[in-house]
Amino acid sequence: MTTVQLSSITKTYQGSDFAVRNFDLTIPSGKITALLGPSGSGKSTLLKLIAGLLTPDSGDITFDDVSVISTPAESRGAVMAFQNNLVFPWMSVGENVAFGLKMRGVPKKQRQQQAAEMLELVQLGGFNNRKPTELSGGQQQRVSLARALVTQPKVLLLDEPLSNLDAHLRDEMRTLIQGLQHKFEITTIVVTHDQEEAVILADQIALLFDGELHQLGQPSTFYQQPASRRIAEFFGGTNFIPGTLIGTDFRTIYGDFTVREPRTGVSHFTIRPERIQVAQALSANCLMATLVESTFMGTHYRHQWQVETLALVSTSVAPLTLAVGEETLLYFPSDALTCF
Ligand code: ADP
Ligand code: MG
Repeated sequence: MTTVQLSSITKTYQGSDFAVRNFDLTIPSGKITALLGPSGSGKSTLLKLIAGLLTPDSGDITFDDVSVISTPAESRGAVMAFQNNLVFPWMSVGENVAFGLKMRGVPKKQRQQQAAEMLELVQLGGFNNRKPTELSGGQQQRVSLARALVTQPKVLLLDEPLSNLDAHLRDEMRTLIQGLQHKFEITTIVVTHDQEEAVILADQIALLFDGELHQLGQPSTFYQQPASRRIAEFFGGTNFIPGTLIGTDFRTIYGDFTVREPRTGVSHFTIRPERIQVAQALSANCLMATLVESTFMGTHYRHQWQVETLALVSTSVAPLTLAVGEETLLYFPSDALTCF
């Protein structure tokens, strides 16, 4: 169980602008934290700084309140799997998993036994003597995971663990990672550009843009209370309604809407597509919209609406009893509105 703390971390690569700047983050012990952000936002840089593969220009990194800045990568106890931990193709699966133990001087019998046990845990028991080239992509990733975990690291670092997998394997790998993480209670950091990967894997998400932390919270927070329009958009938000907030009364040219709480410096509100409802009767927080298109998406329906010059998107589990071109009242529950 290890708490990782990043304090005012700045890292600049030679000849370029900063990759991460003034970065503060507490990564709680025994949980999964996702570092989420678009390509180039500094995620891999942070992971390498935590692993000890890079040194920050300034700031400190502690494991359980002890600075690890001058601890070399091999004795730091933060191990990377997947993207940066490709298996050795010339070694058998068992030798690959035992490799880290061999480097630590663990006797042969013992490391073979530990490797075999770890391969059981990643559901690759019996694959000991295969070569990695004789495994599928998903199986190779499990070898990589076993190889990282067998050394009993303090911190497990996973770079885009689900990205290269199809939907079915993704679900299997997610279950496996969460199961192992829970079993070993290992502090785990997942780096990803994919919000779905972060949401389904992590207990907490740190969202980065341009090398800086923009929002930290449980996955649901990013849907229910995004801190900015950019964050709402990153999480698939499409509905942004301009207006003026007076107290808890948000005035727009389409009507007035009551929001949860007063805030200053506000010019828009947003609502998730799944929170917009077709109104049963005229009430507060309604506006009249024309249905432009309804599309069956497999698990739900997606509806496009037009309100004068404003385009809106809603989703529903059941189809609408409304034809394209018809008008209806849409209802926006107060607790679903976020202003910024
Ligand atoms: P991410 O993993 O979020 O895609 P990175 O941490 O890899 O982002 O990169 C952050 C920024 O630092 C980017 O602008 C990238 O171009 C730059 N960068 C990354 N690695 C290097 C490097 N070795 N040399 C110079 N610039 C780099
Ligand atoms: Mg990266």
